[in-house]
Amino acid sequence: MTFLDTDIFAKIVAGEIPCDKVFETDTILAFRDIAPKAQTHIVIITKENLVTAKEVTESNLELFGELFLVAKQVAEQEGMEGYKLHMNVDEKGGQVVPHLHLHLLSADFKTGL
Ligand code: AMP
Repeated sequence: MTFLDTDIFAKIVAGEIPCDKVFETDTILAFRDIAPKAQTHIVIITKENLVTAKEVTESNLELFGELFLVAKQVAEQEGMEGYKLHMNVDEKGGQVVPHLHLHLLSADFKTGL
């Protein structure tokens, strides 16, 4: 798969596309992946339209930290004792959806994303 032209996650944030929401804060949204690669596979996104993790700066560190805070909260909510966090960065890093997101996966996840 290659980097998509359309930011489908922005459409989810806008309510134009439905999602199976599991957690939400003012800045972050978490929902179940439409094509799960593990028994539990949740995508955690920023509501702000950042494209990749390359956009981290000293001024948005808190937002990036919130991705990890929400990952911990969702994992607790899902009863996951151990888990995997994965982030693809840019097309050459395997990213398909051009919107910053962290994958939360149960420990049975084995293959590449
Ligand atoms: P990445 O390759 O890191 O960009 O991952 C994008 C992920 O988004 C993939 O695991 C897709 O299955 C998932 N995905 C794409 N469209 C949707 C959607 N509408 N709802 C939930 N997950 C989606």
